[in-house]
Amino acid sequence: MELKTKQDYLSDTVKKMKPSGIRRFFDLASQMDNVISLGVGEPDFVTPWHVIEASFHSLEKGYTAYTANAGLPALREEISGYLENNFGVSYNPEEEVIVTVGASQAIDIALRAIVNPGDEVIVVEPCFVSYAPSVELAGGVPVSVHTKSEDNFKLQPEQLERAITPKTKAVIFCNPNNPTGTALTKQELASIAEIIEKHDLILLSDEIYAELTFDQKPISLTSISEMKERTILISGFSKAFAMTGWRLGYVAGPKEIIKGMLKIHQYTIMCAPTMAQYGALEALQNGRENVSHMVQSYRQRRHFIVDSLNEIGLDCYLPGGAFYAFPSIKSTGLTSEEFAEKLLLAEGVAVVPGNVFGDSGEGHVRCSYATSIEQLQEAVTRMGRFMKSL
Ligand code: PMP
Repeated sequence: MELKTKQDYLSDTVKKMKPSGIRRFFDLASQMDNVISLGVGEPDFVTPWHVIEASFHSLEKGYTAYTANAGLPALREEISGYLENNFGVSYNPEEEVIVTVGASQAIDIALRAIVNPGDEVIVVEPCFVSYAPSVELAGGVPVSVHTKSEDNFKLQPEQLERAITPKTKAVIFCNPNNPTGTALTKQELASIAEIIEKHDLILLSDEIYAELTFDQKPISLTSISEMKERTILISGFSKAFAMTGWRLGYVAGPKEIIKGMLKIHQYTIMCAPTMAQYGALEALQNGRENVSHMVQSYRQRRHFIVDSLNEIGLDCYLPGGAFYAFPSIKSTGLTSEEFAEKLLLAEGVAVVPGNVFGDSGEGHVRCSYATSIEQLQEAVTRMGRFMKSL
């Protein structure tokens, strides 16, 4: 009998899956000296001290056991109050909220709770790299809708409608967007909501960057029309609260769907880490000022990087949210991978090629401006030199 190779043991879904394109650049950059990274999608701020302290104290008090599967009741209550205060939507903390291991886990269990084999899930691209693989892991079929650079990557309702088939079950949409930084107005969101309601679909609304909205008040799609009834709201503490390493997120939605998600969560995760939940509780109770301070700082850096990129010949629109600029590199004649690789090797600046976020990201690179203004200044000086050398 011929023995299987180790590769043969992998499932077909995993065999087909490509490793994240972002990793390759980090690996390359980590082998070089003096690299400025505009690559990572995480705040340069350390988590505010009062949050760290609250987590320490929870350990000192001996709160080291599991919490309820859905998360600490007090934290769920805070989350629910936060959603009400910020977006005007009210969720019952007992039945409609789960504290998760990052927004990442919320995306995974949301999809696994609703997708049957062969169901289509529309993924609006360019987008966070986990959506399509998570749909596939749930047994679904991701269907891409490509927003366009000439629309500043704003999803057009007719584009969405064209992608809907009888097999479509859900749409995953992120606003403000990673990697484009695009933030839609309430009216634009309403026209998307209208299509989702018309076709009786579920929306997975990734609102992890909602607090980082610069030119208008943060908006949740759940607050539009009757969307709360058909939306799984995904968010977390990583971005606005500078807590990426704490791995804490949450999901809010209709109780029947949350109940289904909780089944998966209780068997696979049990509960999110207890000490991180105590930190998050403190962040929500007493962290407003820190969040405003960080948002203000991102707002200033946003103007700096966008102006600088335009000055060196990389056409860049002003993104309305998140902490990414997504300039076009089309004028260089290079592909986004070629541009990112050459820039890294020539000048030691790491950016992420746009194609890793979906085909419509080609021709652009993602520059995270969640880094100090001094580093940003040095990065754009080097990028300017690189542009002249082409
Ligand atoms: N959604 C988006 C759009 C993201 O950019 C990220 C992180 N890069 C996540 C979700 C995952 O966040 P978390 O750290 O909460 O898992």
